[in-house]
Amino acid sequence: MGKPTATIAAAAIIVTLAVLAGVSANDPDMLQDVCVADLNSTIKVNGFPCKTQFNSSDFFSDILAKPGNTNNTQGSLVTGANVLRIPGLNTLGVSLSRIDYAPGGLNPPHTHPRATEIAFVLYGELEVGFITTANVLVSKIIRPGEIFVFPRGLVHFQKNNGRGPASVIVAFDSQLPGTQSIAATLFGATPPLPDNVLSTAFQIGRKDVKKIKAKFAPKK
Ligand code: MN
Repeated sequence: MGKPTATIAAAAIIVTLAVLAGVSANDPDMLQDVCVADLNSTIKVNGFPCKTQFNSSDFFSDILAKPGNTNNTQGSLVTGANVLRIPGLNTLGVSLSRIDYAPGGLNPPHTHPRATEIAFVLYGELEVGFITTANVLVSKIIRPGEIFVFPRGLVHFQKNNGRGPASVIVAFDSQLPGTQSIAATLFGATPPLPDNVLSTAFQIGRKDVKKIKAKFAPKK
């Protein structure tokens, strides 16, 4: 054990940080014990209105227990355990996702407008990174048991460069962090962005814009 004063000082710092973390939590703070989301309500509020009746199943999910199907063009699947799947999360300011990756699979560059994300590797090996507003790439290879943090709002990605499948559990400081996947957002919007916006933004020809748009066209 260290000196008592040093121990007390360390404890004070930890408590202060915990309080600050609470004060600066991303979602608004709760005003009651529980406010289980009434997902069918037509009332519009910030979050969801509370159900009058609820039970333990509103606070439970096994949705992350099994790997998601990664047989798609990106070779990855995000399974969200947020307020839309667990109504009891309403007003609590947290949620989880599981992300599974085929060998070579990519969770393409995206942002979460309402949350910081912290990832914990279950298995596999991933190259992960985020890009600051100064366009600096902060990246690392992460392995089972390791953690990486993606600050709120910054563009980030994960790529499975390993030979086998990979999987992570990620936590968010929001009940519904929201996701904007850069390519799909810009090339798959409805109604579509004007071709000349994209051709100028990306410094490519209109033909290339149409080609990329065709790949991200919303499925009907
Ligand atoms: Mn993310």
